[in-house]
Amino acid sequence: MIKDGIELIKSIAEVKRMAGKLEDYKMLIKLNEDIISLQQENSQLRRIVGELESRVAEKNEAEYHNGQSFITFKNDEQTVKFCAECWANEEKRKPLVELPSGYYKCNHCNNGQFIKC
Ligand SMILES: [Zn+2]
Repeated sequence: MIKDGIELIKSIAEVKRMAGKLEDYKMLIKLNEDIISLQQENSQLRRIVGELESRVAEKNEAEYHNGQSFITFKNDEQTVKFCAECWANEEKRKPLVELPSGYYKCNHCNNGQFIKC
């Protein structure tokens, strides 16, 4: 649809150029450039909105447990335990490592705290 509009404007611009109306021609060429620029900006904004929607959806999937010491995700059938601190600080899923003692530990932030899950 917009592509058709751009082609139509190009055709009209060419008619104006042939008729010696160079100001009209330049104005129409500038209009086409503006349309293309707005299309590119629109695509970029749509991509950003999509990314933000994904992040919001992911945040809504997170569930905190045991006094916010670890999180799981509602859509995760394996219910992997992730570090709540890494999630809160960086929005990154860092799986906790189970220690022989039964406690868990985050190898990413490695804050020395052992987590009881
Ligand atoms: Zn961590």
